[in-house]
Formats: sequence, structure tokens, C-alpha cells
Amino acid sequence: MSVRELEVALGARRYPIWIGPGLLGDAARWRARMRGRHALVVTNATVAPLYLERVRAGLAGLAHDALVLPDGESFKTLDSCARVFDALAALGATRDACVLALGGGVIGDLAGFAAACWMRGIDFVQMPTTLLAMVDSSVGGKTAVNLPAGKNLVGAFHQPRAVVADTDTLATLPAREYRAGLAEVAKIGALGDAAFFAWLEAHADALAGRASDALIEAIAHACARKAGVVARDETEQGERALLNFGHTFGHALEAELGYGTLLHGEAVAIGMLLAARLSARLGLAGTADAERLRALLTRLGLPVDAPPGAGADALLARMALDKKNEAGRLRLILWRGIGRAEIAAGVDAGAVRAVLEEQGA
Ligand code: NAD
Ligand code: MG
Repeated sequence: MSVRELEVALGARRYPIWIGPGLLGDAARWRARMRGRHALVVTNATVAPLYLERVRAGLAGLAHDALVLPDGESFKTLDSCARVFDALAALGATRDACVLALGGGVIGDLAGFAAACWMRGIDFVQMPTTLLAMVDSSVGGKTAVNLPAGKNLVGAFHQPRAVVADTDTLATLPAREYRAGLAEVAKIGALGDAAFFAWLEAHADALAGRASDALIEAIAHACARKAGVVARDETEQGERALLNFGHTFGHALEAELGYGTLLHGEAVAIGMLLAARLSARLGLAGTADAERLRALLTRLGLPVDAPPGAGADALLARMALDKKNEAGRLRLILWRGIGRAEIAAGVDAGAVRAVLEEQGA
């Protein structure tokens, strides 16, 4: 299977996304996107023993170093960011230095944010090693760190110079993390691409089994869709918000059950089902579409019902705090059926409560 190449069309800031096997070892390809003499690889303690050497081998001839952070969302912080700055300073990094983010979305968001800040912005290359990072977080230029007050509160839009998605790395990804990534792939079909949704239905078993060809095809398709949305609406003034399908419910579930109980992708799977059921209740879409979505997510090994413990009232209160709301009315991404998501403002809280209660929350 050969490498697929896509582009995020952002004029002078356009960049390639490469997807396929063996890419970390194909340094000639990604080195061409690096301009200066300094490189810092940022990664974590889980990923470093598996893949850091492959990347370092490609950096011969450059002044380079690696920063290995502890693993986990709890390290996506300003403190970790300061460690990146210190490592860049120790390297003598100038404005043409490049940060290589080797890991999942936590490393990508953090290293990207540090790159956005160092000397007011230097190059970085995304080297995503989780499925979620390949199809979602590495594409589009959103970077951030968390504060005790909330996730992703401090961040910047900073586009990478390239995305290097080496699909060989997915072989070591834990099953639950892999399936969580599939939820974001399914989301891309559900929100805006009925043909891709049907393709996913046809290839669900291959994807659940990590069959390489199907996987590369799915990643490439999902990335192409996201790249298109980002090129049209880089800073989320409109269409990009549709990528949040399932996320308002999902974020409320993650927060209410305690972060770590559900993986983000699992929460999004449940959240998409809730959004689909709410759409049916409001007469926007038929229940058959919600059933198709439920069937696909189930075949991909994802949960579709909220675990007990999150009450409807508590979830509603969390959803009311969502930053997408306007003037106290719920603003949600709903749909008119598979492939047809839309922004719905002023959604009736009673209908949301009814859907939450009906599904046991
Ligand atoms: P993650 O980065 O925590 O990775 C999940 C786990 O897999 C970690 O334990 C990691 O060490 C491990 N891992 C990574 N690659 C591996 C491999 N190849 N083999 C074995 N283990 C591996 O989580 P994630 O799901 O990749 O990303 C979640 C983060 O992404 C969140 O912080 C979220 O806010 C962010 N995010 C950002 C965007 C964006 O647009 N910037 C979009 C979605 C999510
Ligand atoms: Mg998401």
C-alpha cells in the first residue's frame, strides 16, 4: 500500500498530509518541509521507546534533541510547555527551528502550542501516532494546553508545516484508544458525507480488525474532509463548528463522569447517538438514521449508551455552560439524517432532558 498525500489548502500556509506505512523512516520526505538547522522532538514516555529512534535517525546533520514528557492528559499543561521552551533554549533554537510532535493529540496540542509561542511562532511538524490524532487533532492548526479551570483554555491557531501519519504506529495502539479514534472517523461520515458513511458500513469489520488497506483509506478520507472544512473555515466562524457533532453531549458526559472514565471518542460516540435521537424527537430526522448510526458504532466496538451515574439534570447544567451557547439558549449540532448535520440554535432544554432521561441518564 503506497503513501497517500493530501493538502490543506491555506494559501501560503498550505501543507501536506502524508498517510501510510513507513513514513517515520522516510525522512527525506518530511525533512524537505523543515527549514532551519535545529529540531526538537517532543514526545512522551510511552511513545519514545517505540518510535523515537526512527525519527532521530532522520535528523542526522541537524542540531537536535528530544524531550520525553510523562504520558497523559494531565501533562498537557503550561508547566510542560515551559519544559519545551527550556529544551529549545538549551538547543540554541533560533526562529527557523522546528518542533516535531511525535505522539497522540496530547503531545500534538502541547508541542504545537509551544511552537506557536517560541519566538512568536516557529515551524512544527505533526507526527501523530494515535488514530484520533491522525484523523482529527493533527489536522487544522488548533493547539492548546489545559488549565485547572478547564480543558484547552489557553491555545492558538498555528498550522503545522506537515502532517506525517505513519500508519505502522497504530499496531501498538491499545484497542480502546484505537476504537475511540474510529468514533471520530464515523463522525466525519455522519455529519457531512453519506457516501463515506455507507463505505464505513461496508468496511466496519475490516476497520474493527485494523486491516491496513481499509484503515489507510478511512484515514485519508476523514482527513480530506477535515482539511476541506479547515481550508474553508480555519478559525471556526461557521462550518468548522459542525465537526463538533456529538461533542456537546460528549463533553458533558466526560466531565460529569470524571475525565478518564470515558475516553473522548467513546463520549463522542454516545453523544452522537444522543444528538441523533434529539434530532428525531424534534422531527428533523427519522429514527431510522439514528438506528443506522447506532448499528455502525456498535460494530466498531464503541459504546452507544451513557453509563449510569450521570443524571439528566447534571448533564443539562454542563451543556448550558458550553461556550457555543448564545444568550442562555442551547446551541447544538443536530442533523437531518446521515451526512446532514446543521447548527441548531435555541434548542428547547425540555427536549434535551427527555432524550437524556429516555436513555437512562
Ligand atoms: P493521547 O495523546 O493521550 O494518546 C492516547 C494514549 O495512547 C496515550 O497513553 C499515549 O501515550 C498512547 N499512545 C500514543 N501513540 C501510541 C502508539 N502508537 N502506540 C501505543 N500507545 C500510544 O490521546 P489522543 O486521543 O491521541 O488525543 C487526545 C487529545 O487530543 C486531547 O488532549 C484533546 O483535547 C486533543 N484534541 C485536539 C484536537 C485539535 O483539533 N487540536 C482535536 C481533537 C482532540
Ligand atoms: Mg473530538
